[in-house]
Amino acid sequence: MNEWPRPRPPPRSAPSRTAPSAASHAPMHTLNVRSRSLYRRRMEVLIAGGGIAGLTLALTCHQVGVPVRVLESARSVRPLGLGINLQPNAVRELFELGLEQELAPIGVPTREWALVGRNGHDVWTEPRGLDAGYRWPQYSVHRGELEMMLYRAVLDRLGPDAVLTGHQVTGYVHANDGVKVEVSSTDGAARTIDARVLIGADGLHSAVRAQMFPGDGGPRWGGTVLWRGIAQAPPIRSGSAFVVVGNSHQRFVSFPLSPPDPATGLQTQNWIAEQSFDPQRGWRRGDWNTRVSIDEFIGRFEDWSFGWLDVPALVRNSAMVFEYPMVDRDPVDHWVHGSVALIGDAAHPMYPVGSNGASQAIVDTRVLGAAFVEHGVSRAALHAYESRLLDDMSALVLRNRGAGPFSVLGLVDERCGGLFDDIDDVVPRAEIGQVMSDYRAAAGLAIEELNSAPPTIAPTR
Ligand SMILES: Cc1cc2nc3c(=O)[nH]c(=O)nc-3n(C[C@H](O)[C@H](O)[C@H](O)COP(=O)(O)OP(=O)(O)OC[C@H]3O[C@@H](n4cnc5c(N)ncnc54)[C@H](O)[C@@H]3O)c2cc1C
Repeated sequence: MNEWPRPRPPPRSAPSRTAPSAASHAPMHTLNVRSRSLYRRRMEVLIAGGGIAGLTLALTCHQVGVPVRVLESARSVRPLGLGINLQPNAVRELFELGLEQELAPIGVPTREWALVGRNGHDVWTEPRGLDAGYRWPQYSVHRGELEMMLYRAVLDRLGPDAVLTGHQVTGYVHANDGVKVEVSSTDGAARTIDARVLIGADGLHSAVRAQMFPGDGGPRWGGTVLWRGIAQAPPIRSGSAFVVVGNSHQRFVSFPLSPPDPATGLQTQNWIAEQSFDPQRGWRRGDWNTRVSIDEFIGRFEDWSFGWLDVPALVRNSAMVFEYPMVDRDPVDHWVHGSVALIGDAAHPMYPVGSNGASQAIVDTRVLGAAFVEHGVSRAALHAYESRLLDDMSALVLRNRGAGPFSVLGLVDERCGGLFDDIDDVVPRAEIGQVMSDYRAAAGLAIEELNSAPPTIAPTR
């Protein structure tokens, strides 16, 4: 339906060492029918959701020797979504899972991050990833390619029964020494599966979170709508830049998902056009897969041409455009309920202004894995994970509501209405530098701290 053409096939000379067999692509629920013992055997860790968080947690559990199974509601795991960014703290964790070789062919190293005013003049540029001094790169990557890479790794390392697709977690019941997980599967059956712990990695519309917080009220829309797409276009700036152009209420973001094609010179560019509205007017449900016509919004960006970036051309060059109302949820005061815990977007969905949704989901899994190593698979481990991250992530959700690092564009609006020749006359560099450095610290991205931190999970060999 909305599977994007893979932006760039992995090079033939570097086949993934986790490539699955043809049989491992078969929907896993058909395997279940043959093997009822899958449901009877009690699992140490059951994971609701086979997205970025769920699959990374499965790999982490395997790494630390904890039996685990993933229940994924979709009938099959598919390469859905568009571009996302993986920050160095998450790349570090993927490397420590032994996925460096698999990540390299699908990720484009981000070397530059640029904020540009609506007038096309630079507000702030800074190096990123290795160029900024991190020991690990920052990568732009197609979410679907990352998802499939993780899925292949899970099947390869844990076996074909590790992910049960077509299995939707609908609820849980506490048991003395664990939890009974209620599951509805596409064969029409409703089952209960026993586990020592259940981890809700079931994303923005988490059923696990809904049971934990019945009065939560659902995702919260702050007034911004994102239109997103992918197009072939000439390199923008350095060709490895994350670029944000605009002001506090209208922005255009781009970053590449492939190196330039040697024959055409074109790159696969991921773009996001953002517009703020009155939040009272409401919007369609937050769903990553809603397709819209370009005509619905292109008029708002018709004169956004700067020589080095032609927004209308980039948008018109896109085969499909998706609309997404930028939503999050109010922070909660716990992520653990008995033997059940939330991770990733189920725990702390946030505005994507700091490129840390997928990155933090990955970091969550590693902190939880370290807690399993220290405390065993237990409620104590779940609480250790929660106390390590809950306050910081709740603060980050709120910081992102204030536009995170993009908030500098709001300062420019306030002080000169977006009209400037030299940004130093409007917002001193030291002031912008402080915003950036505060954000890095809040998001676990302070360079020296990250570089010198011991591995989240100590290597065993
Ligand atoms: C289809 C899709 C496309 C996306 N596209 C983008 C994008 O283009 N850009 C971007 O910034 N972010 C995108 N995201 C969100 C991004 O993946 C997350 O913000 C981030 O990676 C955190 O991942 P997560 O694993 O916590 O949640 P998700 O990636 O949302 O994964 C949640 C998983 O849980 C499954 N699930 C949901 N409910 C249940 C249930 N009750 N039982 C079992 N399984 C369940 C879902 O099918 C999904 O596989 C997308 C998410 C999805 C699901």
